[in-house]
Amino acid sequence: MKEIYLDSNATTCVLPAAVAAARQAMEQGYGNPSSTHATGLQAKAMMDGVRQRVSGLLGVGDGRLMFNSGATEGIQTAVLSALCALRERRDAGKRIGSLLLYGATEHKAVPESLAHWNRLLGLNLEVRKLPVDAQGRHDLQALDALIGDAAMLCTMAANNETGVVSDLSAIAQLLQERGADAYWMVDCVQALGKLKLNLAATRIDYAPFSGHKLYAPKGIGMLYVRAGAPFTPLMMGGGQEAGLRSGTENMAGIAALGAVLAALDDGKTFRSHADLAAFREQLVASLERAFPGIVFNMPFDLSLPTTLNFSVPGLSSKELLDLFDAARVRVSSGSACSAAKALPSYVLEAMHVPQWRASSAIRLSFGPLIDAATVTAACARIERCGAALRRSCLLPSALAPSPQDGAQDGIIQLSVDGQCTWLLSDAASASCVVIDPVAALVPRLAAFIRCQHLTLRAIVHTAPPADHGVARLALLQELAIEQVGRIDIDGELALGQQRLRRVECGENHVYLLGQCFAFVGALAPEALTPLLDAALVTQDTVLCASGDDGGICRTVSTVRDGIVPSAELQLDAAALPVFLRQHPDAILVDVREAYEHAACAGTVFEGCEVRSVPLSRLAGQVAEWLQQPQRPLVFFCRSGNRSARAAACLRRLGHGAAWQLNGGMAMAEATRHPLAIAA
Ligand code: PLP
Repeated sequence: MKEIYLDSNATTCVLPAAVAAARQAMEQGYGNPSSTHATGLQAKAMMDGVRQRVSGLLGVGDGRLMFNSGATEGIQTAVLSALCALRERRDAGKRIGSLLLYGATEHKAVPESLAHWNRLLGLNLEVRKLPVDAQGRHDLQALDALIGDAAMLCTMAANNETGVVSDLSAIAQLLQERGADAYWMVDCVQALGKLKLNLAATRIDYAPFSGHKLYAPKGIGMLYVRAGAPFTPLMMGGGQEAGLRSGTENMAGIAALGAVLAALDDGKTFRSHADLAAFREQLVASLERAFPGIVFNMPFDLSLPTTLNFSVPGLSSKELLDLFDAARVRVSSGSACSAAKALPSYVLEAMHVPQWRASSAIRLSFGPLIDAATVTAACARIERCGAALRRSCLLPSALAPSPQDGAQDGIIQLSVDGQCTWLLSDAASASCVVIDPVAALVPRLAAFIRCQHLTLRAIVHTAPPADHGVARLALLQELAIEQVGRIDIDGELALGQQRLRRVECGENHVYLLGQCFAFVGALAPEALTPLLDAALVTQDTVLCASGDDGGICRTVSTVRDGIVPSAELQLDAAALPVFLRQHPDAILVDVREAYEHAACAGTVFEGCEVRSVPLSRLAGQVAEWLQQPQRPLVFFCRSGNRSARAAACLRRLGHGAAWQLNGGMAMAEATRHPLAIAA
């Protein structure tokens, strides 16, 4: 199953002709364009040729165009140039505006550069966000009100998260009507190759570009500067680029960019706007089939045809990203991810989309090189992702579940913000018990119970009554039931053949499933001594807590200070075949969610069966694995995080041969490991 790359707004692959051109520049045309001998002159001729092509394509006219390392450098240079000129004007006693205005949806490079150079140059102007409307376009009324005070205005041609195309003509008209003298930078990164540009015919002073967004390599970019616009070099030195940007040019990058622009010029390599729009329609239809209830976060008629931004109710961007990644469809989360939590997208927040959409958005973007076969294959995989999700019963309640699969036995751990709810399900009796429900998990719990056609036998709590009400009531309401069973007088509840037994432990309750599992709530293992003394639990009883400290589960005998250093748990993908030959009894365990496992259509490795045991079901499985503490277990997941938790948990519980695949499927795929090749 080949990767399908749909994250072109982040970066693209390199056009084969660009690879060839770069190679040629490195192997044959390796001269320094500043050298005066023939080798240097040849290199210079190549570079001049590319510059000429760019000038034609972008309509540079009398303006200047320099090669640099990319848009971040271009933005720096533009901001530095404008701010230096402003300082000079102010020092000369001339009036300058008090605002450095930037569109609320600009790439972070813009406000960060404005703040940086404003501070360094001691200008101390006010860096102010220009709001956008619900469509993501600049609020022209707000601009009208502010433009008189603006010393610099930074807007973008098209947004990287949503593809929304700015109304540059309307902005230009407003600038003209108000006689504004603000310097104007337009970030054209996402416009290159997708929107027609004729720069010298506009009022734009600075326009940065980045090669890697259009099939050139990373590290090559361009900056357009209007004739007459002030300029201050960011880099001083040997005077390359007519003194505008010193440093020996990135000739391989320039050659590659030249090849891309030649392809753009020939009109045959890249797809037309109409083709791209039709591909987008095809993808939208599949997304709608896969994820009923999906909401698109961009106006179709005002966006690039190559960008989709969407949210699915009840699913976080992390879950969707994991799912797509498992199907080897590369998309990106529309929101910036910090280590622990996905932060909402500031672009979508600026558009005032509801909070849940801003924090669960996915961006799918492709480039104009895409072909029909790739789009069709992507659609098939997207639809498979939807089917996998439906089967897993983890789709939110608003979306129709597929009832064909019956209930499964299991102990399922659902976590949110460090709190856990446990769900005990019994397939034979099609019933379940919920232990310590957390309010935020209620929609998901209800969806799962309904989708699996389970009868909710009871909702039980380990802590004293004070904390119960809200989540319990919400779950009952969500399931439209008035009351559920209670633990009987003997403190027991039958769940099919199993008995859930309630015992007191201080002020708290502990729920026991035989001697195998104890749901202990917030109790520390040390507090269980009375239950140990009464032989209600053993040293090996799996303890399922209501707090999620990342450890999944533990036992009374878990040796905290016996934690195996994580490096010792890691198996490298390259070492796995040898390991498996040496340990033919090893079990490979996919700890990704069941829908991720299903989306990648099952993986096989040298006849070794891969078992799917999602991290959320791991606790229910550990007792069985601990019976064979020397039988190797190799956990794997997408990136290595979840498998690291699984391996560490098993080791802490006393399993002597639990491992994790270092770097997860991502690294296994990178090394073209057979494990990564889906059946
Ligand atoms: N501006 C926009 C709109 C972008 O999408 C990006 C890259 O994501 C940049 C600027 C920065 O480009 P680079 O990282 O190539 O310097």
